[in-house]
Amino acid sequence: MASETPHIRPDRDQYYMGIAIAVRARANCLGSKVGAVIVRDDRIVSTGYNGTAQGLPNCEDGGCQRCENRGTKYSSGEAYDLCICVHAEQNAILSAARFGTPIEGTDVYTTLRPCFNCTKELVQARVRSVRYMYDWKHPRADVRGEYNRLQSFIRLVAQVETEDPDAAWAMPGLRGGLEIDPPGPGAQSG
Ligand SMILES: [Zn+2]
Ligand SMILES: [Zn+2]
Repeated sequence: MASETPHIRPDRDQYYMGIAIAVRARANCLGSKVGAVIVRDDRIVSTGYNGTAQGLPNCEDGGCQRCENRGTKYSSGEAYDLCICVHAEQNAILSAARFGTPIEGTDVYTTLRPCFNCTKELVQARVRSVRYMYDWKHPRADVRGEYNRLQSFIRLVAQVETEDPDAAWAMPGLRGGLEIDPPGPGAQSG
């Protein structure tokens, strides 16, 4: 017998976040797995997931010294300058550059709120909005003000609540007590 569950057409935020979740499935990093899509005029123009730079050994195969020593030698959320993993948002921006796709004024959907560095790059690429599923807090309380100031240069930063069937795999920090918040009860400005 066919399922009686009626099809629920996702709204745009859930549609694009669902695709960001699908993109994330290819992520290869010992830390959080993240997927991002860049949307222009209601069409996807670029995608990215996190992992080591092309041609380098994968993070899960010990390719990144920083990720492998995260939590011991390096704190979570820090020493990104020593990390050879490229973040999902960076990969989406870099793919657009590589293929000559303009991204000024675009809307970005990412499964995790962009880190400090990615935010800086999204501001400079002049994206219009960023919507994220999981909240991310800078591990250092004393620089959270600067992080928020940086994010204020993006016209809209909002949280999107949606189903995440792969949460346990993608967000191991949710169980480990890291400073990552699950989707809140509905969208909120950040
Ligand atoms: Zn990594
Ligand atoms: Zn980042």
